[in-house]
Amino acid sequence: MSSSLRFQVVAEAFKKKPVDVPNREDRPSEFFAKYVFNRQKMMKYLSDDVYRKMCDVIDNGARLDLQTADQVAEGMKKWAMQLGATHCTHWFQPLTEGTAEKHDGFVEHDWKGGMVEEFTGKQLVQQEPDASSFPSGGIRSTFEARGYSAWDPSSPVFVIGDTLMIPTIFISYTGESLDYKAPLKKALSAVDKAATAVAQYFYPDTTKVISNLGWEQEYFLVDEDLYAARPDLLMTGRTLMGHDSARNQQMDDHYFGSIPPRVAAFMKDLEIRALELGIPCKTRHNEVAPNQFELAPIFEETNLAIDHNMLIMSLMRRTARKHGFRCLLHEKPFAGINGSGKHNNWSLATDTGILLHAPGKTPLDNLRFVTFIVETLMAVHRHGGLLKASIVSATNAHRLGGHEAPPAIVSSFLGTQLSELLTKLEESDNDELFNLSGKQSFSLGIPQIPELLLDNTDRNRTSPFAFTGNRFEFRAVGSQANCAAAMIVLNTAMAEALNHFKERVDALIAKGEDKIKAILNVVREDIKSCRDIRFDGNGYSEEWRQEAARRGLDVETSAPLVLDHYLDPETIRMFESMNVLTKAELEARNEIKLETYIKKIQIEARIFGDLCLNHIVPVATRYQSQLIDNVSKVQSIFKAEQAATLSANNVTLIEHISEHNAFIIEHVQKLIDERRVANRIPTIRERAIAYHDRVAPLLETIRYHVDHLELIVDDELWPLPKYREMLFIR
Ligand code: ADP
Ligand code: MG
Repeated sequence: MSSSLRFQVVAEAFKKKPVDVPNREDRPSEFFAKYVFNRQKMMKYLSDDVYRKMCDVIDNGARLDLQTADQVAEGMKKWAMQLGATHCTHWFQPLTEGTAEKHDGFVEHDWKGGMVEEFTGKQLVQQEPDASSFPSGGIRSTFEARGYSAWDPSSPVFVIGDTLMIPTIFISYTGESLDYKAPLKKALSAVDKAATAVAQYFYPDTTKVISNLGWEQEYFLVDEDLYAARPDLLMTGRTLMGHDSARNQQMDDHYFGSIPPRVAAFMKDLEIRALELGIPCKTRHNEVAPNQFELAPIFEETNLAIDHNMLIMSLMRRTARKHGFRCLLHEKPFAGINGSGKHNNWSLATDTGILLHAPGKTPLDNLRFVTFIVETLMAVHRHGGLLKASIVSATNAHRLGGHEAPPAIVSSFLGTQLSELLTKLEESDNDELFNLSGKQSFSLGIPQIPELLLDNTDRNRTSPFAFTGNRFEFRAVGSQANCAAAMIVLNTAMAEALNHFKERVDALIAKGEDKIKAILNVVREDIKSCRDIRFDGNGYSEEWRQEAARRGLDVETSAPLVLDHYLDPETIRMFESMNVLTKAELEARNEIKLETYIKKIQIEARIFGDLCLNHIVPVATRYQSQLIDNVSKVQSIFKAEQAATLSANNVTLIEHISEHNAFIIEHVQKLIDERRVANRIPTIRERAIAYHDRVAPLLETIRYHVDHLELIVDDELWPLPKYREMLFIR
């Protein structure tokens, strides 16, 4: 982009007005889930008998026979066609970052030379997308390139535009999962079973436990025309170069500030579309960094919440374009300011409405509360490394371990009150009643468990896994990631911890121990075992890193090495025993993650090299020529000594530009060479390590020089929109 063009685009962007989003006549409660085939629609479009069967399928996982499926499909088709749908698609979540779909029209021959609209139970329940180009990590060799997608009735179908979208799992011909949803559903079923059994100690009428997820989605908005002028943003989702603007987030004036009008219009539009699709949007606000925002719905059952998160990310991207923006979901689109994450608020609840991670009113409630808190800590303690592996990626790596967002060590913050309680519980080994001091003292009537009133203001923003009153908040998930990766690990690890807990309690009961005492004993034992995972201090500090290493926690920051946890013996044991993933599936997942990691850095390195050689060095050279021209003109009209004085600054600049240019050219070549060397490494793990150790750091080293040139070179000549232009125009 020539500089005059750049100024023009900046000026135009600055003048843009909000897109008009008219107020609706109807209220959100009226248009909520308008495009979702939920129970209300099922009741209307299905016969009573079919409706009841469907409820059994959804609530109890009953099998769906083909005849019923046909009837369901017929009702769905009728409903969808009234909304203008002409096509349907299985909508699934392959092991890439997005979702996939392949549309089929409702049309079929009527065998009289015409067409009829048809949608059968078979089409609803199962499809065979030719899926050989989706990542399979070697599971699906090409001669059995078929993959199956199968309907997930627990997530309702919905209509977008002219298409009926059917949420599905995606598996290989031989039954291995090739997506996030299949193992997620298995993990949710494992945690349901394990948690129900433990919940029954306290509430015998529990028949089901639901895993809840409330995600908070952070994102950036950038004016579309400025975005288009940044090949790095366009191709990689982040700026590979660009000097901080003089003012960025140091004024702390963006967080919770008033929402800029163009953005407010975008948010309003997005929320209406989301609500119509049944996504219960609730919260919106500015985030810490300039042009950074957040959206959060009310929490939902985890499987549905994840579908909704995948859907909202695609809605955000589409709606942003309508408003002349691009929505950036990359974890770190801009250096020097905060990146974006996706906090995962997670808890378990019974079908009888008891929030298992929340304190309750009775002593028994609180023993249950402590049990679920401690077993969550046990899960995180045992599989902290794996939990980190579930969120690590080439893009999220820019966030982890920086002085923002979560540190690259998985620990858990409980707050003073809960920490004190656990410590007291651990120390007291008799049945005497104990109180916490001061305002937090609430005696319970039964030994050892004080009734709790949790202080919700006791927050720690530096903890990756913080207890926040009635749930845990896992903050390390990347903004563009599929939350399922983390939720698969967390729920499976929880199931394992609860099973292990129950085994020990039952063994004590079998020996004649009183149930409550047995539970207390095992809880006490576990408080001791998982002590190392608890940390309430500053998670960003160097002292914590050292302390964590002393405690034996995983402090590794290299993504390829963190990914090794997918293949840890205890990982494989856990997933196999919980029936969630097999060893072969884990190996495949590990390979896909490594492959994706390599590809991301490969692409960044290429784009970066091109930008350096085609944009930056030529422009810097042009500016340098102008300076040289000036110096020689000065020499031509002044005496040597005076000319030298007058040109001193420019001569220095000329030298600096030469130095920076020389460095850039030399190291871009080095970048190419390192890539070449890395690409020849036969094993994928070692190749990823080479990309991490030798290729990625060069991008940073070179960037330093590019960003310095940006400071020196005449603004008129600089081709790329600058941070101040991208981040302050809204
Ligand atoms: P924050 O202060 O962290 O921004 P919010 O009040 O905005 O917290 O809530 C964040 C998310 O947590 C929302 O999606 C909310 O519905 C969800 N949430 C609240 N309680 C629970 C719970 N018990 N389990 C799971 N998610 C929850
Ligand atoms: Mg939060």
